[in-house]
Amino acid sequence: MADGDNNVPHPAFPLEVPEFKCGAMADLSPFVAAPEHNEALGFPGELVDDWKEKAIAYMGELAKKNRAFQVYLDICVKCGACTDKCHYFLGTGDPKNMPVARQDLLRSVYRRYYTFAGKYFPWLVGARDLTEEVLHEWYSYYHQCSECRRCSVFCPYGIDTAEITMAARDILDHIGYGMKYSNEIIGKVHKVGNNLGLPAKALAATLEDLEEDIEDETGVSVRIPLDEKGADILLVTPSADFFAEPHIDGLLGYAKVFHEAGVSWTISSYASEAANFGMFIGSYEQMREVSLRIRKAAQDLGVKRIIFGECGHAWRVAYSFLNTLAGPFDFLDQNYPIPQHILEFTWDEIQKGTLKFDKSKNDAYKMTYHDSCNVARASRMGDEPGGQFEIPRNVIKAVCNYYYEMPEETTREATLCCGGGGGLLTDDLMDLRIKGASPRMTALQQVTEDHGVTHMAAICAICKTQFSKVMPKYGYDMDSIVSVHQLVSNAIILTGQETEQDDAPKGAKAEE
Ligand code: SF4
Ligand code: SF4
Repeated sequence: MADGDNNVPHPAFPLEVPEFKCGAMADLSPFVAAPEHNEALGFPGELVDDWKEKAIAYMGELAKKNRAFQVYLDICVKCGACTDKCHYFLGTGDPKNMPVARQDLLRSVYRRYYTFAGKYFPWLVGARDLTEEVLHEWYSYYHQCSECRRCSVFCPYGIDTAEITMAARDILDHIGYGMKYSNEIIGKVHKVGNNLGLPAKALAATLEDLEEDIEDETGVSVRIPLDEKGADILLVTPSADFFAEPHIDGLLGYAKVFHEAGVSWTISSYASEAANFGMFIGSYEQMREVSLRIRKAAQDLGVKRIIFGECGHAWRVAYSFLNTLAGPFDFLDQNYPIPQHILEFTWDEIQKGTLKFDKSKNDAYKMTYHDSCNVARASRMGDEPGGQFEIPRNVIKAVCNYYYEMPEETTREATLCCGGGGGLLTDDLMDLRIKGASPRMTALQQVTEDHGVTHMAAICAICKTQFSKVMPKYGYDMDSIVSVHQLVSNAIILTGQETEQDDAPKGAKAEE
């Protein structure tokens, strides 16, 4: 373990309500999008002159067309059950990061302009005018919510703060006050096909290098095909899988599993991105445009199935919305789930007995598992309720000898966000990301103390990037976060593979 940083918050465990630090995060905002980033998505380039009228009118439009949004604004009874459930409040102590307070930033304005009491007796119902100060407060605190939905699990009315955050960001985009990080990325997907702006040639070269790596490691030629017409499966995976650690090791795992399963598959250079930041900015149109690339790629390549790689919000969009956004997918083979998650595929193969493992290859890893928010609270896997919790754990246990759970109040539906989700994975929000990770880090430290856990696995590209950045602040090495398919890749024995007893798994460290 690394030394860690003494300045990061260490909330007591079980998680306790922190001391209030009013206004502690008021000055933290992400960079504002440049005109070209906004205009590429069809939004005004800069804050429009009549922003106030436009914002109020668009809020009314959203409340009319999105019944859930309107209900969420109307029904909160201020019971307080959600107040201490947000990792950003737990990590920063700023009361405006309590979910109910975050909702009220918008609710108070909605009341002022759209309710009888708010119009005539604003002081009685906590209604307030939309002023420049309020606008900046929206920009700041609606970019301190990762849309993780943990608070909604504890709300007796099921109020989903993430929906309110998405609506707020949508309103901000419509008046030319968008966020640089998300809007720039969405623009790159429209133009090039992935968040990185990685062109097809560079992607092809990267995949060839990775094929060579597998052959060097195993002596077996395993293909990572690109744009292969007539393949059975289109793999849509986060572009971080092509270049970042530990994501890349996960991609090697998918390739080895497909190889052993004997299926034909391909990646598409046109839809080389599973992530869909359209969801983060609350834009149906942007989500749809990104999703339609996947449909087109599947049709152009003539595939029969679509499988998604390890990415949390991508799986939420795929599982919950893809059919509505880009369906019907009647041209795909209806005998398989549409779409399917790579973990469903791998778990099926494990159950069929197609894959052979040497679990001891992962013995240097004492594992725990971080449930990623969008998978845990907004999707499912397999045929059984709770499959999204059990299937990743089943796969880890099939390839590792040592597995331990973090405290129950921080896993499954109650999982804690990594601190970088929802479009907040940008360096300009690093202070928030480090503090927001502290509840999860505290739970991890607990399981390290109790069982000597050395590594945490995740199935979300954002979680992996976020943890590799913030874990060193909490005393862990940056490679203490791993992909689930990295563990699969370490343990799998390919047909014809040259095995060496003393092979150490990539990225693992011997226990001290
Ligand atoms: S959705 Fe998540 S980040 Fe947003 S207020 Fe609720 S708990 Fe906090
Ligand atoms: S738990 Fe629900 S009803 Fe209670 S304060 Fe929070 S949002 Fe309002």
